[in-house]
Amino acid sequence: MIKNTDIFKIREAVDIYLIGEDILQVYFMNTRRQFQFKVNKFTLLLIECVDGKKSILDIKVKLEERIDKEIDLDAIKQVFSHLFEKGIIVENKQNFHKPYISDEVKERYDRQINFFGDFLLGVAKKYEAQQKIQKSRILIFGCGSVGGWIATELAMCGVENFILFDGDNVEKSDVSRHIFFKEKFIGVPKVNALEEYLVNINPMVKVEKHNEYLSPDIDITGLIRRADFVINTADEPYIGHTSLKISRECIKQKKAHYIAGGFDAHLASTGELVIPGLTPCVDCYADYFTEALKGWKPKTHPVKERYQEIGGLSSMSLFSASFGVIEIIKYIAGLTDFKTYSKSRGEFLFDTLDITYLDVKRDKNCKTCGGIVYEEA
Ligand SMILES: [Zn+2]
Repeated sequence: MIKNTDIFKIREAVDIYLIGEDILQVYFMNTRRQFQFKVNKFTLLLIECVDGKKSILDIKVKLEERIDKEIDLDAIKQVFSHLFEKGIIVENKQNFHKPYISDEVKERYDRQINFFGDFLLGVAKKYEAQQKIQKSRILIFGCGSVGGWIATELAMCGVENFILFDGDNVEKSDVSRHIFFKEKFIGVPKVNALEEYLVNINPMVKVEKHNEYLSPDIDITGLIRRADFVINTADEPYIGHTSLKISRECIKQKKAHYIAGGFDAHLASTGELVIPGLTPCVDCYADYFTEALKGWKPKTHPVKERYQEIGGLSSMSLFSASFGVIEIIKYIAGLTDFKTYSKSRGEFLFDTLDITYLDVKRDKNCKTCGGIVYEEA
């Protein structure tokens, strides 16, 4: 219900223009949605007055002065209500963010929060989305090129709580490949070096560090219990094994997780988002590959010894990390409806710029996730 004191503004990412005398074209820049509708002179006069400063009552007074005629307040409210329902205008309230985020956080993430607003109904929801990001505790296994970038981008989005797990120390070759490892950190645990980088992005960042390797006998139950979301990029001893161990425990605890890709033979993998009871878990993927490769018999390799250091381009690791972060942020901030989520792992091809997706479906009889029922976050 619109009140006399309400103040509205045109939504930030909305472009409106007139076609002819009476057709209003509306274009939503972030979602690419667009539509037209017929407007009368009265509606156009009202739209001209929407400046984020004047209340409904102020607009009535101003318009009456302009056209020298009394205007019915309810008629104004009716137009505003219509524009609001169509998502063209939003309320412009001071301190509307206060129950969710501080002035400091609002100022820091203002552009991103407005972007969120285009995917959520109701002006408070975008602040709530930022609050969810701020309060999430993210556990990351592996702090190399992909894991380190994911942590960096999440800190840039406003994540303040991290648990970092990596047994490596920074080596000379890391300094030239990763922006978060500096010369002074050579010989220092990667988790310590990354912590310093994240705190420099946002002083509110807190990091719980685990400078160890993810060996099969390590109990990760408590770690996963303390996390709101889990990411695996640990490729030692082998990404398939670490992912199985992590995914199985996450499914047991009904924790959403992301298996991020982009290393060795995976080129620029998009990785996969695993939402318990909704998307395929790591065991579903493993079963898919067992089935897909059933008739494939490896031949004996003719060359027994060779030097093999598979390389890549740091931009491709960044692609994998950024792709993962987009999905992770969408999930933890609740920006899209995941009940209809159907993406599985894809691979970005360097030469053609195509992304090819695997057609993996959740196996209802999967020994790990088969009996799990999806619960909305
Ligand atoms: Zn499964």
